[in-house]
Amino acid sequence: MRIECIAIGTELLTTRRLDTNSVWLGERLAALGLAFHRKTAVGDSHEDLAALFREALTRSDLIVTTGGLGPTFDDFTKECFAEVLGAELREDAQSREDMLAFYAARKRVPPESNFKQALLPEGAEALRNPVGTAPGVWWEDPKEHPGVRIVMLPGVPREMKRMWEEQVEPRLRALAGESVRTLRMVVAGVPESALDERIREVRERHRQLDWTILASLTQVELLARGADPAALEAARADFLPVLGEDLVGVGDGNLEDAVLGSLKARGETLAIAESMTGGLLAARLTAIPGASEVFLGGATVYSAKAKIALLGLGAGRLLHEGTVSEATSRALAEAVRLKLGATWGLGLTGNAGPGAEGEAPLGTVFIALAGPDGTEAKAYTLPGDRADVQLRATAWALDLLRRTIRNG
Ligand code: ATP
Ligand code: MG
Repeated sequence: MRIECIAIGTELLTTRRLDTNSVWLGERLAALGLAFHRKTAVGDSHEDLAALFREALTRSDLIVTTGGLGPTFDDFTKECFAEVLGAELREDAQSREDMLAFYAARKRVPPESNFKQALLPEGAEALRNPVGTAPGVWWEDPKEHPGVRIVMLPGVPREMKRMWEEQVEPRLRALAGESVRTLRMVVAGVPESALDERIREVRERHRQLDWTILASLTQVELLARGADPAALEAARADFLPVLGEDLVGVGDGNLEDAVLGSLKARGETLAIAESMTGGLLAARLTAIPGASEVFLGGATVYSAKAKIALLGLGAGRLLHEGTVSEATSRALAEAVRLKLGATWGLGLTGNAGPGAEGEAPLGTVFIALAGPDGTEAKAYTLPGDRADVQLRATAWALDLLRRTIRNG
């Protein structure tokens, strides 16, 4: 199924408003094993819209639009599509009733201009809007374009999302018959290019599946899509030995889910002391529901003063070793583990830039893991700007813990 997204609104072409609707829709499609083959943002111009709709009808099986369903002069998505397809607009009784009820509940009377929202192209179905006044449109097999489906949704993200989840997704599932499945494998600690090379041979062997490799700052995702569950299972089995200990997990989770999950299974706990990541690692862990069973807490010890006052590091040693040093990362990990009585303690220190800090060049990071069998520390040189270095450091810390548990 070739799916196309058209985000409508002049404001989307400026920096005042970003087209977040299509990003969200793309994520929802991926969960169904589907994807856009094309996305466009277009201004409120009748001519541009009509031209784009004509093109889309020749190249896509499903066209999803957002925006331009409201009552104002610059809202004409429905009118334009109806014109392109040569369909009449008729009032939909249910939509009129819904709108009257919406206003009555607020003790108001709808302005005359609002009634155009109740119009529907002949042959189309209205999608009810439970949180606003503009209904959407579900249009199957329009005249002269059999097999094409058109979905029109309001631009307001809250309305668009509700209507997509409650009314469009069930229709898509029925269409796809749940036929396309996705195998998702999450990998950490390997650069995308190295991974690509390592898996080339096994990916070739499973080339009947549709493969995507998606790298972020914290992990790499390998996605395979296909209709045959046995083919996906065979690919999974073949990939396991190739990915080895770099494989974080198969399915929905990410690196932090995997780490929290295995600690929970082992009945173990974690404490962390963060310097240059400023609490980012703690935030990533606590974003996951149920983290409290495993993550005890820790300290954001950004200054030397905090390292001394909160975790009892020695002022003389800090000065001697330097705050960005392996010795300091070890001292942080051990101190926070001891203070909170945790199974594991992680200590992070480094220089995220923009300039060099003391002797340590930009991107230098030390991560230490203190555990029941002693302390291990590693040095990293991480690329990117300040935010990149901080985020990458949290991923390496989680990955160090993940590998240690796995091999322990
Ligand atoms: P309404 O009935 O509220 O007028 P509408 O369907 O006409 O809905 P628009 O007028 O195009 O939608 O947009 C309404 C609001 O939604 C605006 O604040 C707009 O910036 C926002 N919006 C529209 N399209 C998008 C998009 N693609 N991503 C994020 N926000 C959007
Ligand atoms: Mg509008």
